[in-house]
Amino acid sequence: KKGGRQFFVGGNFKMNGTISQIKEIVGHLNDAKCDSDVEVVISPPAIYLLLAREHLRKGIEVAAQNVFDKPNGAFTGEISVSQLKDSGITWTIVGHSERRTIIQEANHFVANKVKAALDGGLGVVLCCGETLEQRESNKTMDVVLAQLGAVAKEVKDWSKIVIAYEPVWAIGTGKVASNEQAQEVHHAIREWLGKDVSSEAANATRIIYGGSVSEKNCKDLAKQADIDGFLVGGASLKPAFVDIINARS
Ligand code: PGA
Repeated sequence: KKGGRQFFVGGNFKMNGTISQIKEIVGHLNDAKCDSDVEVVISPPAIYLLLAREHLRKGIEVAAQNVFDKPNGAFTGEISVSQLKDSGITWTIVGHSERRTIIQEANHFVANKVKAALDGGLGVVLCCGETLEQRESNKTMDVVLAQLGAVAKEVKDWSKIVIAYEPVWAIGTGKVASNEQAQEVHHAIREWLGKDVSSEAANATRIIYGGSVSEKNCKDLAKQADIDGFLVGGASLKPAFVDIINARS
């Protein structure tokens, strides 16, 4: 453990899977020998959240990929924090780049979702990250800190937030960030936490990396001082996910 922070590995299935595939993945995880010191959370599509929760063993948690920021009511197509809680879903991903770019979720909307999720007792995997164009014009930290800063305006207690740094250019591309590129941004995020949130948040908040994480590149990334785990997309659907969970063993 780095600074007492428990290693965290999330599996983001995105819009993939069928009933039988979800059962297969869950069955594989149930049987796998996972490092007991790692917090593991899987995030199937909304329609399979209950299925996953029913079949998954205790000790592995389930996350929604998204949540709405308002209590139950006339919001067709949305899912509330209380409905997730009612279904045994204890985490939600918020602000994934695919939702920010394709569904056009703005920073303040993402921030409202984080606040609603925390107020309702969910853990939050808060995603942030820059596009290739933004990186090449040296805007990486401006973008990331604008995304996180919007949340800091709404939320003072970061103890139930896991920050996922996911450079957009690395997601689903096979172009993983280098160890140095990832560590540099993670370190800068931790410095920002210390300055704009609290020194406690800087020490305790898990900052995980996402973007083309594989069983091959995870071991070196996991050694970086400010990398406290991973958010895994494509590889979370495969048996290799277990190797990523066990990156440090
Ligand atoms: P990837 O996705 O591992 O397939 O690159 C990561 C993510 O989008 O969370």
